[in-house]
Amino acid sequence: SALLLPSSEDSGAGGEPSKECPILVAVRVRPRNEKELASGDPPCVRVLSRSHLCISKNEGVNQYLNSQRGRVNDYEFDVVFDETATQAEVYQRSTQPRVASVLDGYSLTVFAYGATGSGKTHSMFVLTLPLLLYCGTAQVYNDRLYDLLSPGDGAPLRIREDARRGVTEVAGLTRRRVSSAAEALECISEGNHNRRVGSTAHNSVSSRSHAILQVHVRSDGVQECSAVMSLVDLAGSERAGAAAKDRQRLTEASHINQSLLALGNCINALSGEGDAQCQAKYRDSKLTHLLKGSLEGHCSVVMIVAVAPCSGTYEDSHNALKYANRAKEIRVKSPSKRRVDVEM
Ligand code: ADP
Ligand code: MG
Repeated sequence: SALLLPSSEDSGAGGEPSKECPILVAVRVRPRNEKELASGDPPCVRVLSRSHLCISKNEGVNQYLNSQRGRVNDYEFDVVFDETATQAEVYQRSTQPRVASVLDGYSLTVFAYGATGSGKTHSMFVLTLPLLLYCGTAQVYNDRLYDLLSPGDGAPLRIREDARRGVTEVAGLTRRRVSSAAEALECISEGNHNRRVGSTAHNSVSSRSHAILQVHVRSDGVQECSAVMSLVDLAGSERAGAAAKDRQRLTEASHINQSLLALGNCINALSGEGDAQCQAKYRDSKLTHLLKGSLEGHCSVVMIVAVAPCSGTYEDSHNALKYANRAKEIRVKSPSKRRVDVEM
């Protein structure tokens, strides 16, 4: 049954004036799989430190580093994980520092960006936390929102904006009370299962929809409040359109391109690139509309960018790094401290 959100006289912003703070951008390079190792292709990405990596196209990144010749692009991010990083380490250095603000009643959005096969879904499993109270999962497919916990008649859901609390959420999304990380994992698995079953006709549909897990944390302290934690596993960022043969694929590709473009445009607008007058146009897609509260409200935002290290996927990996580099410039209003007790 749906959770009734508590009302609050307090503005979502809390008492203190808010500060602007950047979103946290983490890049994770996954290990090469057996096939990639067997191919003998040199890796094109190399992690140089905990915040620094480089990518090189032609000769392979190792050769460049040995010879100091050839073209190479260096990038710095808040956090960079190499292929040896464990799930626990990824959680501890990317998301855990921001989780405290959810306990304070502020929203948190984590999204995973990257090409298909780069490790987005794998990295999202990091984020099953013991504080989960109510879980709901949805997917955006062809710019429509669907419930993944109770697919029912397959009718699309709507987005509800609450300007006062500064959150956007899926109206009528099935939410299940969970009391342990294991129960939350069950919710996610069921959602992922329905994400596949809902479209057995397509292969690997998960790369063509955005999956969103929304966790509602409700607290009953002196000031009642609630916060939304959204985990967004984005559709593959590779240019899908070029290879699309049939009409369904073309439709999917154009919706993915549009929504990721809309997300990119919002990121550009928020990062102050281009026309300063340019406003983020959240309503250009369901994805950005749903993220509106997160990107402009009092919310923490973590972006995990997954990249594959192989030369064969150089273009996709480099595009993802450029996207991540722009995201570093986003400033969101940081949550100001407001202590509340959380009912577990
Ligand atoms: P995406 O969601 O970006 O399409 P997946 O998360 O499904 O990609 O990852 C593709 C494959 O690579 C999966 O088999 C996954 O288990 C594996 N994989 C991804 N990241 C890692 C990692 N850091 N360590 C080990 N295996 C990984
Ligand atoms: Mg995936």
